[in-house]
Amino acid sequence: MTQTKGTTLGPCPACGKGDLVESAKAWGCSRWKPADGGCKYTIWKTVVGKKLTVEQIKQLLAGETTEEIQGFQNPKTRKPFRARLRIDDPNTGHIALVFELRKEPDRKEG
Ligand SMILES: [Zn+2]
Repeated sequence: MTQTKGTTLGPCPACGKGDLVESAKAWGCSRWKPADGGCKYTIWKTVVGKKLTVEQIKQLLAGETTEEIQGFQNPKTRKPFRARLRIDDPNTGHIALVFELRKEPDRKEG
């Protein structure tokens, strides 16, 4: 059993006609060519310095917010941070960072 031919994560959630296929840096719609309608759906494998696992990408595709992921790196300060991810734009697969709302310590106002 050899399954080396074109790994896919299933149908493209944006157009529903193409498949999400793997490239070196991203999972993208197989109908990206303008002649095919030019679907722009792309999920980058690396987000803010952190490489995502296939499981995490599957969660995103399912419309879920991932668990908190550690190992992101602020491109300016280089400080590591953690966040959850969700898909922000279902047409392009743009990913947004979701920060946990932590309980703020009591602050004395005024
Ligand atoms: Zn598509």
